[in-house]
Amino acid sequence: MRLVFMGPPGAGKGTQARRICEELRIPQISTGDILRAAVKNGTAMGLEAKKHMEAGGLVPDEVVIGIIRDRIQEPDAAKGYLLDGFPRTVAQAEALDELLAKLGNGLDRVIDLAVADDELIARLTGRRTCPACGWGCHVMFAPPAKEGVCDKCGGELVQRADDSEATARQRLTTYHAQTAPLLDYYKKRNGFRSVVGVGTMEEVYQRLQAALA
Ligand code: AMP
Repeated sequence: MRLVFMGPPGAGKGTQARRICEELRIPQISTGDILRAAVKNGTAMGLEAKKHMEAGGLVPDEVVIGIIRDRIQEPDAAKGYLLDGFPRTVAQAEALDELLAKLGNGLDRVIDLAVADDELIARLTGRRTCPACGWGCHVMFAPPAKEGVCDKCGGELVQRADDSEATARQRLTTYHAQTAPLLDYYKKRNGFRSVVGVGTMEEVYQRLQAALA
């Protein structure tokens, strides 16, 4: 299955995507994760991306399109993949369509995870992750057993640099200006589904499963 997960920052795309990908045995391809790794490794692409990410803006289309072009042609993506956080502009969606047409395939589902703005700020600013094992939690909604410590491996939990309140607000502004217009691009398609991203993780997961069926 070839899937796209859309939705505003903080909607829960990454968390839900992880579970869906484990179940379907397909890779989760997150442009955000790939860019964060590039920033951490100090590559040329990372240096270019960092300034946009820290400002709550988008990394230039040609950079993320290049990442996806290479990544979806790797062997582990032959049977399908889930794109988490890509495309984020109409130009990216058009480039993806063109690439898929060349490869002779298309998307099975485009899923929009819908959550209202006022809830998103609280979700974003409370997120914490463990750099050692990738475990994630939320200081209010799903707190760790011991403050600041990963439940899974005991590592120190950190907050993503762009989850500060000021940057989170800017990311939402960016989403409405540049990514929300994509909904119109995909809405007319057969495979498009909008899923309410509010409720427990399990409730949202069940809705997603129904949308994928
Ligand atoms: P995410 O982890 O998906 O929230 O992405 C974190 C940041 O990476 C975003 O705020 C953007 O700065 C950048 N980014 C991730 N995916 C894209 C994309 N498809 N297009 C442009 N910028 C992106």
